[in-house]
Amino acid sequence: MIRPPGFRGAAFTSAQHGDLRNDHKARGAIAARLNIPDAWATVNQVHGAVVVEAWEPGSQGKADSMYTGRSGLPVAVFTADCLAVVLEADRGVGIAHAGWRGVVAGVVENLRAAMETAGWTPLRCAVGPGIGPCCFEVGPEVAARFPANTATTTWGTVSVDLAAAVAARLDGMDLWQAEACTRCADEYFSHRRDATSARMAGIVWLP
Ligand SMILES: [Zn+2]
Repeated sequence: MIRPPGFRGAAFTSAQHGDLRNDHKARGAIAARLNIPDAWATVNQVHGAVVVEAWEPGSQGKADSMYTGRSGLPVAVFTADCLAVVLEADRGVGIAHAGWRGVVAGVVENLRAAMETAGWTPLRCAVGPGIGPCCFEVGPEVAARFPANTATTTWGTVSVDLAAAVAARLDGMDLWQAEACTRCADEYFSHRRDATSARMAGIVWLP
């Protein structure tokens, strides 16, 4: 498990912690380890850009991003190659599920703007482990959406540096980024590598 440094309450799990999306026992074990409730606010992730405010645990409906000002309410997204993006403000926290479609649609900017509108200007950002430019091969139509963030896979084809694209959209904030590539490193679930339905969790909470 990764705890991004300097954050009051944030964590990114790895494969050893189990399928956090589907396995409620695994969720309970992580919650106990983090000393947080095991009832989390989640969203029905659809690779879009909708942001919702969460005040209660459970599904908040179709969205890819949430924020809350409620102390002790963990908000979580589930990933296997996509990025979990955590934003922390003095009195609020937010999280986004960001794959290439969500990033293009504006999920990261929308979360930041929604938190600012709520009065909680995000100061810090943490980006969890996701597929790296080493492995995120894309076709020309996807590459064209990321003119400033294309790269090359280890096998020489065009890829996208999704974490760099996210960072560019969070200009001016303190940024921490996980270095791992989920497709390269066996300790993470990777949809591209294994076509798995298992998901890791990105979790953030106000103490
Ligand atoms: Zn890789």
